[in-house]
Amino acid sequence: MPTPIDKCLLCGRESRPGARYIVTDRGASAFLRLPPPYKVLRCVPCHFRWLNPQPTEAEYTELYDDKYYHEASCYFSEDSERKAKFEARLREIRQHLPHDIQCPVLLDVGAGPGDFVHIALKMGFKASGYEVSKFSRQEAERRYGIQLLGEDTLDLQPNTLDVIHLEHVFEHITDPHAYLELFRRGLRPDGLLVIEVPNQFDNLRDRFRRLVPRRYGHSLRYSLHHPVFYTPRSLRSLLEQHHFTPQRIRQYYPYMRLYSNGKVTRLVKRCLCYLSAALGRGILIEVYARPSLAGA
Ligand SMILES: [Zn+2]
Repeated sequence: MPTPIDKCLLCGRESRPGARYIVTDRGASAFLRLPPPYKVLRCVPCHFRWLNPQPTEAEYTELYDDKYYHEASCYFSEDSERKAKFEARLREIRQHLPHDIQCPVLLDVGAGPGDFVHIALKMGFKASGYEVSKFSRQEAERRYGIQLLGEDTLDLQPNTLDVIHLEHVFEHITDPHAYLELFRRGLRPDGLLVIEVPNQFDNLRDRFRRLVPRRYGHSLRYSLHHPVFYTPRSLRSLLEQHHFTPQRIRQYYPYMRLYSNGKVTRLVKRCLCYLSAALGRGILIEVYARPSLAGA
């Protein structure tokens, strides 16, 4: 049974008589084409949004093993862009780490079919991955001969990791507080947490698309797969609650090649991409954060 979440997951507020803190975000709910009882709730004071009610962990695991989900998502396409992006990110991660670490220990949480782990291993990281989907774990084994963890609940030895990386995974986690505590324990004091999530609803493209949700709305399965919706502000606030110090938060538009359907359209869309990034309305949020001393 889906679980109702009436209390803000970020600041803990709940509505009470005379103080209606939690409201339905009708625009976001319509955009996702959520049927009853599902809707997007928003906390008025802190602007955090989440799906209510939320499918259970077991229901999510079933969803990620569903063949339809993988066919409907773009995960198994865009291989060359994905490879270039991951290589660039790993170079950047290397720059953020102390230079005397020869072979940084990296864990990719939500490793999918193992692309990031595979590239990290090639680039000299001691990399491993955790993935709940059996389908994806089998893909990682078939493609790269990599055995991902994921049969059991994620557990980390204290102070053992230099890098924890989550690429479009954190927004799938129903209890981000528990995971951030786990990550902080598992990271070394000078370790790095790298998270990328969508900047859903508030990016310039979604703002335009929300005007015509019938045309751009999503299928039900796709809509349900994010239990929470981050903004740069809410992500920063959540990380700080758990004694992480964001080193850098940026928003951007990825995969420019996807926008290349016709010269004029491409030009217009590229302008939109640059404009959105300049206005802080990019479709992706990327954050690099370190455990802060206060949490030690
Ligand atoms: Zn709140």
